[in-house]
Amino acid sequence: MTRREYPLEADVAIVGSGPTSAAYARILSELVPAARIAMFEAGPSISNPPGAHVKNIADPAERAAAQRASEGPGAGAPTVSSPGQVKAGTRQARPGTFLLAEGFAAPGEDGLPVAAMSSNVGGMGAHWTGACPRPGGSERIDFLPDLEELLDEAERLLGVTTQAFEQAPLPRRVRELLAARVDAGRESSLRVQPMPLAVHRRPEGELVWSGADVVMGEPTRANANFTLLDNSLVLRVLTDGASASGVEVRDQETGTLHQVAARFVVVGADALRTPQLLWASGIRPAALGRYLNDQAQVVFASRLRGVDAQLASRSSGAGLSEQSGVSWVPYTDDEPFHGQIMQLDASPVPLADDDPVVPGSIVGLGLFCAKDLSEEDRVEFDDRVADSYGLPAMRIHYRLSAADHQVIERAKEQIVRLGQAVGDPLDDRPFVLPPGSSLHYQGTTRMGQVDDGTSVCSPDSQVWQVPRLYVAGNGVIPTSTACNPTLTSVALAVRGARRIAEELENSLLMSESDNRMCK
Ligand code: FAD
Repeated sequence: MTRREYPLEADVAIVGSGPTSAAYARILSELVPAARIAMFEAGPSISNPPGAHVKNIADPAERAAAQRASEGPGAGAPTVSSPGQVKAGTRQARPGTFLLAEGFAAPGEDGLPVAAMSSNVGGMGAHWTGACPRPGGSERIDFLPDLEELLDEAERLLGVTTQAFEQAPLPRRVRELLAARVDAGRESSLRVQPMPLAVHRRPEGELVWSGADVVMGEPTRANANFTLLDNSLVLRVLTDGASASGVEVRDQETGTLHQVAARFVVVGADALRTPQLLWASGIRPAALGRYLNDQAQVVFASRLRGVDAQLASRSSGAGLSEQSGVSWVPYTDDEPFHGQIMQLDASPVPLADDDPVVPGSIVGLGLFCAKDLSEEDRVEFDDRVADSYGLPAMRIHYRLSAADHQVIERAKEQIVRLGQAVGDPLDDRPFVLPPGSSLHYQGTTRMGQVDDGTSVCSPDSQVWQVPRLYVAGNGVIPTSTACNPTLTSVALAVRGARRIAEELENSLLMSESDNRMCK
């Protein structure tokens, strides 16, 4: 076993290595390259460069091993890979993720039976679909005047494009069919369009999906002051009086404990484990873990009419087995669901043996619904019971309100209309996936404009009352959103990282001038 050196101190300690933590590392590497950054990740490295998406691993056995290695305490449990299997009603995780062993639903509540996490370098960002829509209408955080610029920067870090499937004819056809049903009366930015995706193509045509590796980029990898320690579980944020002063870390390979002093601490440990770590550290603002929200997900499948096999195979590109495009039906406040329409290479429902599927001709429709926010929806932590990492066990309290059920019913009606618009529906009726399926948990460390007890952090993501402690991830998003959240949470991380960079630069300048004065 290799012996690893833990630093005694750092300027910035970052907990977690998913896309939002990676955004801190990247912006700090660009703006203050002299700052010493130490990133601690509970799980193992599974891909190269560190944080790379598992879909970029060509060998299926290696890819499956990388997924297994990301499943933390759930590794080895059967996983589910299609909505068809979810419909069978089994409580199983998606490959690369694991579920809560217990505490996922309190008696008489809906709970989040399939709330999931990933433990690996790159976090869920090594397993995600890469859909990066911008929030619209009331999804947007209205007290951030610079939100558009932050989203531009998040697109740069994630490598977002709408061009990756530009040559494919089928998505264009799907969009035309959807547009005929949806676009009337919508302003142009809210019409049916290609989904912005975090992906690029190599010159040879091969797709490369963005993970935390792309967010970190060369500026982080080439930064001699940046260290990434995998298999390193942060057990506590240390405080010195009121301010954050470092982290206590357990080397998961040897079991040894290390204290690392830090001038700033950033916790980007996902929307369930970030509040857990704050709680375990005795940092317990009133809103911690509250306003938890998941996006109820309604699915349906349809089949394009009159697709000839030649056209479809051209759409996939030479030698590639890939879905031929993702289309977007944007959220509006009038229709509070976000449409992610994906073309599939296989049918999610069984078809007759003599009915072969032309790749890309099956259209999987998904509508994500915005939740009716409530402070009662929350993740609590039980100090008397330890989870498999030795941290206070999670207890989810979560209910769908009457307003949520109404939105879900409307989404069901809408998805049938969309399915009929694109072709011949394969399902008898739409299906509502179990709560937690969206993998988009938000609100648990939410941002607020002022410290009034309904938020955990400031517009710069600094935890109220705890100077030098920052939180990152989807938990920071305060609004009710239906769109995929990662672009937004990376944008919020950019703002926090700039703030830390500014403070570090000032203090580095001050210590330089102190040094000069002493000479
Ligand atoms: P994560 O990526 O979850 O990373 C958190 C990391 O923190 C983990 O690696 C974890 O091991 C580590 N950690 C936790 N506790 C500790 C600790 N105490 N000490 C050290 N490390 C710790 N989102 C979208 O926007 N669009 C999509 O299309 C999309 N599709 C998805 C599809 C799938 C199959 C999955 C699994 C997710 C999808 N998501 C999607 C969600 C997306 O992946 C997440 O929003 C994103 O990864 C969140 O980034 P993060 O940095 O906040 O946290």
